[in-house]
Amino acid sequence: MLGGPPVHLMWSQMYNPNRPKVTKRVDLRRILAFFRPYLPQEAQVLACILVVALLGLLPPLFTRWLIDGAIPARDMHAVSLAVGGMVASALVAGALGVYQGFLNSLIGEGIMRDIRTSLVAHLHRMPLSFFTGTKTGEIMNRVSNDVDNIDNVVTGTLVSIVTNLFTMVTTVVTIFVLDWRLALVAMAVIPLMIVPLSPVGRRMYDVRKLTREKRDEIESITQETLSISGITLIKSFVRERFERERFYQAGTELMKLEISLAMVGRWFIAAITALVVIGPAVVWLTGGWLAITSGLTIGTIVAFVAFLGRLYGPASALAGVQVQVVSALAVFERIFEYLDMAPEGAEKPDATALRDVRGEIAFEGVEFSYTPERSALRGVTFHVAPGEMAAFVGPSGAGKTTITQLVPRFYDPQAGAVRIDGHDVRDVTLASLRENIGIVTQETYLFHDTIGANLRYARPDATDAELISAARAANIHEFIATLPDGYQTVVGERGHKLSGGERQRLAIARVLLKNPRVLILDEATSALDSANEAAIQAALVPLLEGRTSLVIAHRLSTVQNADVIFVVEDGRITEQGTHAGLLARDGAYARLYWKQFRDRAVTEAVGT
Ligand code: ATP
Repeated sequence: MLGGPPVHLMWSQMYNPNRPKVTKRVDLRRILAFFRPYLPQEAQVLACILVVALLGLLPPLFTRWLIDGAIPARDMHAVSLAVGGMVASALVAGALGVYQGFLNSLIGEGIMRDIRTSLVAHLHRMPLSFFTGTKTGEIMNRVSNDVDNIDNVVTGTLVSIVTNLFTMVTTVVTIFVLDWRLALVAMAVIPLMIVPLSPVGRRMYDVRKLTREKRDEIESITQETLSISGITLIKSFVRERFERERFYQAGTELMKLEISLAMVGRWFIAAITALVVIGPAVVWLTGGWLAITSGLTIGTIVAFVAFLGRLYGPASALAGVQVQVVSALAVFERIFEYLDMAPEGAEKPDATALRDVRGEIAFEGVEFSYTPERSALRGVTFHVAPGEMAAFVGPSGAGKTTITQLVPRFYDPQAGAVRIDGHDVRDVTLASLRENIGIVTQETYLFHDTIGANLRYARPDATDAELISAARAANIHEFIATLPDGYQTVVGERGHKLSGGERQRLAIARVLLKNPRVLILDEATSALDSANEAAIQAALVPLLEGRTSLVIAHRLSTVQNADVIFVVEDGRITEQGTHAGLLARDGAYARLYWKQFRDRAVTEAVGT
């Protein structure tokens, strides 16, 4: 084995599509860490809650004063003071509530932004193997819907816990001060509200987890069927009916899960509601008896019953909150599951930046497999001198694309080494490595944005003149100039408003702007019409000029012009040399070449 970490280590770093669904309970400290940046706002919310809770105690106390003091004493001034106090405390509490609402949104939305950003940033660092093994819909669902769900917990639930706790504690203290006997009676029903919580929470957690998984599935179906490629497939195979059925099925399963989620704990909530009615009845009964036998004032009983709302309301809310928190943990778990996945081939701590790249590429005994069962590359060794053009030819599935993907470290070999200018690619920083490599593949990806913005993706600070010069070199400027909006034309989803040839030339212009030392080019396999082919060939000239290029060659002309040709068969390089040398050898290359030559002759004969 040549250099590199041991194979078992490499595998453990790669994404495993069959990863076990570990149900690891979320560490609360991890969740709280997201709250840390908002401590000043949280302190203010806490202050608001405390003041509002205290203000809430005043109206029942003013009522008691009215009934037991001011009215019997026929003191109108005291009556006005009590009523004024009631109104003022309500107004101040209302105003503070508005401010607190603003702070809640600020904290909640801020935390969601932070979680979403760290999730997306982490996903950007995940290896390609993760994306080939995971449905896009599932990823989308976690980034959008799951994080949205956290909003409820963050803004609603936590504030609700604190508010209700404060309200309950202040109320309990006050009622014990008013009359400890009645207070004990009033408190007696509370344990009945809390006892059945645990099983309800557990069930809700389970159902919510299933619901989220079902949503992943629906998002995946939507994503796959509503993309341009998906919809084209559906239409061409007339599978609309099948897709509708599939969607309906998944939707029905989600509907059932959502209904059971809504129904979990309904009986429990109904029982709590009953207790809220029974509590005051018991207080009236006991209070009435105490008033008759030991002179408890009417005002105290009325105030007491008013306080019960501030006791049972928060108690039942807290009961519900606990259930919500437990089930929200299911969502956090899903988010942390993504955040905990190992990012792509970690940079070594002493990785150096690649500078003044000459563009020498070497593979030394490279062994690579995507899955443990099957080797994609077996002992690949070759050398490409700076500025040379190397063509890779060979049957489909031989490993040509895989070879090119190891250079920018989209994957790391399990054994052997890939070198650029003599440095193992694992010893240099990822950014400096990739900045020096340009890639043009058959599947040109363009953002749904303007042509200008798509080109500038390669170099955001490029001037208009540089943009035009790159487009000219790529033989696409004249076409862009004919468009009514020119460089401001929006290319449509993934560039589908353009022809395949135009997209490819735009991609070439984009790489020209990047101006890398090393170029990876996967030529189009599909036969282009001769005008398009000529346009692309012309665009390729400046692209290949003065760079080291690794070209997966499908065109005879490219192959013939290459400085060195590598024949790849079944993960191995079986022949290498120049076009003339390999033809003279009369081996696999010669067979491939003459086959293509004949095919082309036939195509041209048919075309004419
Ligand atoms: P083509 O000319 O058809 O594009 P290729 O020579 O470029 O083929 P590669 O794409 O390098 O072939 O594939 C080499 C082998 O690795 C194939 O057997 C393919 O099935 C397998 N393979 C490619 N990508 C993956 C992947 N992401 N996961 C698992 N196996 C893969």
